[in-house]
Amino acid sequence: RKGNVLITGASSGLGLATAKALAETGKWHVIMGCRNFLKAEKAAKAVGIAKENYTVMHLDLASLDSVRQFVDNFRRSGKPLDVVVCNAAVYLPTAKEPTFTAEGFELSVGTNHLGHFLLSRLLLDDLKQSDYPSRRLIIVGSITGNTNTLAGNVPPKANLGDLRGLAGGLNGINSSSMIDGGEFDGAKAYKDSKVCNMLTMQEFHRRYHEETGIAFASLYPGCIATTGLFREHIPLFRLLFPPFQKYITKGYVSEEEAGKRLAQVRRTSKNNKYKFTNTVNHDMCTQ
Ligand code: NDP
Repeated sequence: RKGNVLITGASSGLGLATAKALAETGKWHVIMGCRNFLKAEKAAKAVGIAKENYTVMHLDLASLDSVRQFVDNFRRSGKPLDVVVCNAAVYLPTAKEPTFTAEGFELSVGTNHLGHFLLSRLLLDDLKQSDYPSRRLIIVGSITGNTNTLAGNVPPKANLGDLRGLAGGLNGINSSSMIDGGEFDGAKAYKDSKVCNMLTMQEFHRRYHEETGIAFASLYPGCIATTGLFREHIPLFRLLFPPFQKYITKGYVSEEEAGKRLAQVRRTSKNNKYKFTNTVNHDMCTQ
């Protein structure tokens, strides 16, 4: 049978390119977990993914209720689940004030980390039941959240501190909207969320790999400077960032190439060229 792979945020950028790359192998049925159903359908058609190779299902990671509903709906479909790719993210570097998820968590950490954390925790049971030979749960990380890289040392740096804001609910009312309890900073919140993504996979690996045989990993796809991720950035940044990454840092990767890379993280680690580039520098979190 074909493998079933769930990709969150598959309506644009890396998620869409990965959906296309996997669908084109003829070996995968892609479940596109997206908050905007119509946009996702149009995007799949626009890049030419054949109808029989994908299904769009509604998933809004900024609502834990929606995550639970998605899991229920997926289970009702009766499909086995073989691979999960947690790819969706929001990045709000110019926001002056925090915005919040349906349950009142700061939006970047709420979407990128908490939504994916709940999704992964629930779908672990489904992955366990799959008879597929190489079951995987992958989260897209970022070197910007990792202070053992050059990009990760550009301020504001990720820092989870003693997690007091997270413990307080990240709601900006009776707790800070930032994990470390500090003042709101959108760029830092994104980086913090990516550290959480990487730590989540390390912890899943530690707790569940041996018992389940499932591979847990986070992956940095390269700098895909042209995606919608930078839509909230100032226009000058959006103009200069792609050529800066192409010609100066040489870290630039096209959406298509990054999609192919992420699509490869389904194989066994022996022949996987682009595996697990994220090792977390634990100095960033004191607890
Ligand atoms: P895009 O903005 O193009 O894609 C992000 C996707 O996430 C979109 O499909 C978006 O949906 C979806 N999304 C956002 N919020 C939600 C939500 N609440 N529920 C469901 N889906 C949501 O960015 P990229 O393709 O660049 O980013 C993909 C991943 O790659 C992210 O995890 C990012 O952190 C990571 N990454 C990207 C890098 C880059 O250089 N671009 C570098 C390192 C990592 P919609 O279409 O509806 O807006």
